[in-house]
Amino acid sequence: MHKARKRFGQNFLHDAGVIQRIVQSVSPQPGQRIVEIGPGQGAITLPLLEACGKLDVVELDRDLIQPLRNKVAGIGELIIHQQDVLKFDFRALAGSDHLRVVGNLPYNISTPLLFHLIDQSSVIQDMHFMLQKEVVDRMAAVPGNRDYGRLSVMIQYHCKVDPLFRVKPGAFTPAPKVESAVVRLTPWQQPPARLDDLASLSLLVRTAFSQRRKTLRNTLKTLLPAEQIEAAEVDPGARPETISLEQYIRLANRLARMDVQED
Ligand code: SAM
Repeated sequence: MHKARKRFGQNFLHDAGVIQRIVQSVSPQPGQRIVEIGPGQGAITLPLLEACGKLDVVELDRDLIQPLRNKVAGIGELIIHQQDVLKFDFRALAGSDHLRVVGNLPYNISTPLLFHLIDQSSVIQDMHFMLQKEVVDRMAAVPGNRDYGRLSVMIQYHCKVDPLFRVKPGAFTPAPKVESAVVRLTPWQQPPARLDDLASLSLLVRTAFSQRRKTLRNTLKTLLPAEQIEAAEVDPGARPETISLEQYIRLANRLARMDVQED
């Protein structure tokens, strides 16, 4: 019997109804390139494999690999990548295909993992993830909402965010201390607005939200003078949580232009 490891964020799903709802939301079809992150003891792996016949999985805990192989024997072709998903190269796996990514994610690495994935979103068709509900709220939040922040802006620049349903702690063993939720992320075919430089958006948003209570004029003063903020049609007296994605993109384009002029 495997003892769940906290350091690997192991909370295994046992609720058949929740497992079924996840698989229905993904709607896996034969021939699709599906990758599961953290298959664990195979709760979602088995029904996915039954539906599509072939599946790649990325699992860090080596003690789970052999039991997983035994469980899926005869069901389909399971390709196990025993490695840290934060270092996993989704682009190399995709080749010229697009991947569908699924996972009941280890909550302790969810933010760096989401950033690792959106970095490679050009090879991803969609993602279905179980996450801490609070993280899903932050990803889906709109300006003016208290959950709106860096994660909202950066994820929404790359993907359409659809929160699907909530999951109670009792659906897992061991039960996590927090509520969970399933979300669908669909990378945009065309980004929502023209952005000149992703690194500028990233720096700007990180700086703006480093002091949520301060005005943009104050927090951004080392990056963009107030005239540049105004030129981007943004009020320098506004707080970071009231600024839309399109406004952040305009500010980032100003920042990128200033950097070029200073070079
Ligand atoms: N999918 C299973 C389920 O629903 O019952 C397990 C989900 S559990 C929340 C997270 C899984 O991710 C565990 O199997 C854990 O070992 C694995 N994991 C944790 N950190 C990882 C990492 N850095 N790379 C790959 N897998 C990881």
